[in-house]
Amino acid sequence: MSSIRVRFAPSPTGFFHIGSARTALFNWLYARHTGGTFVLRIEDTDKERNSEEFLNVIYDSLKWLGMNWDEGPGIGGDYGPYRQSERDPIYREYIQKLIDAGRAYEKDGAIWFKLIGERHEAYDDHRKKTVTKVKAAPTEINDLIRGRVERVEDEDFVIVRSDGNPVFHLVNVIDDIAMKITHVIRGEDHLSNTSKHVELFKAFGAPVPHFAHIPLILKQNGPGKMSKRDQGALVEEYQRRGYIPEALVNFLSLLGWNPGDDREKMPVEEIIRLFDLSGVNQSNARFDDKKLAHMNMAYVLALLADDFVARAKAYFTKHNVFAAGAPDEAYLREVLLLSQPKIKGIEDLPAYTAYFFTENYAIDAKVRDKVMSKGDPKTRLQELAGVLKTADFSSDLAIEEAIKTLAAAKGLGFGDYQAVSRLAVSGTNVGPNLTGMFRVMGRERVLSRIERFLAAA
Ligand code: GLU
Repeated sequence: MSSIRVRFAPSPTGFFHIGSARTALFNWLYARHTGGTFVLRIEDTDKERNSEEFLNVIYDSLKWLGMNWDEGPGIGGDYGPYRQSERDPIYREYIQKLIDAGRAYEKDGAIWFKLIGERHEAYDDHRKKTVTKVKAAPTEINDLIRGRVERVEDEDFVIVRSDGNPVFHLVNVIDDIAMKITHVIRGEDHLSNTSKHVELFKAFGAPVPHFAHIPLILKQNGPGKMSKRDQGALVEEYQRRGYIPEALVNFLSLLGWNPGDDREKMPVEEIIRLFDLSGVNQSNARFDDKKLAHMNMAYVLALLADDFVARAKAYFTKHNVFAAGAPDEAYLREVLLLSQPKIKGIEDLPAYTAYFFTENYAIDAKVRDKVMSKGDPKTRLQELAGVLKTADFSSDLAIEEAIKTLAAAKGLGFGDYQAVSRLAVSGTNVGPNLTGMFRVMGRERVLSRIERFLAAA
């Protein structure tokens, strides 16, 4: 293990969204790339806005995405507890240190951090109170992504509110010191806090960690940062929809980072190998749900048969697809594998495969009207049924040969038999490869469906 220690420090005040997942991922990737330690710390000091439900969503989503933490809730570690709500005694010690060092003082019931520099009191019209202005030297931040940033902190600031609660800036810095964090990787929206943090690190006499502020994720359309309320922003939504978590990880990794070439689809081991903070862009990244859907499709397509079937079945079970009774295992497997190359995502499977599992499938009226209005489809179907009675059903190719032979004998083409027979056995004009579908359904099922269709036509 290297001495690099990073942390993901979410506040459980809302559902886990894409932006948080990306921050977690960049920390996790950096830890895995460097052989460092990935710490999960829960910043739950705001009792009013935190909830256990949100907390569980964070744990679930991280696990679902494969971002296992080395220290944190449920796992422990040498620097716990890992929930800020359980660390109050630690904060009291640190606050006392600041007071003893003359770097904090009490005023109006609150505790203030004292900046170094020439000071004077001034009345702030806007906030309608007296503040302590300080002529301080600029604070320098050497950000690994943004480069050198300077900012002047010119006012003492509150670190413990009059109700006794320490503020975010203080506990965030205390924990980074106490947990020996070496790299603070977080969203660029925190860059404006960083000068306060740097001054606190120095006041505690602690080494200032490396900072890496990662670019914002812009919403899909229009300007502005993506928020939890934007369409497609919640991670659990993708989990519910049967997205492949590896696809989401791959997609998130490219939001603000690039591997140095045009590659997009990469296994996570490869992302870990290539990931570095020097490859993180300064410019903002834009969320693109089509790109995510496309990435997901590519992952679905590439899954090995057993893996695909297991994930599809888990999705079916979760969504109670076979409430009326599960189909034969081998048949289900064949149907799933036949559909794999044709679907965009696991979530399409129930609708895409429904007619395989019931004799009560609907016939799409529009498709029927169109298909039945051209040529002599009833006759074609009768001819096809005749051939399928004795055709070899052992392979797609054998079925294709039988249909082609029939077509040639009638001076027609394969296409003359295709649409009508698909309509008869599935009720629609979309579906997997026709001969594969016949093979999987089997002779009996195909013939009885065609007969029923002909009787009603
Ligand atoms: N709790 C803060 C947040 O959720 C963490 C900030 C940080 O990473 O330092 O934004």
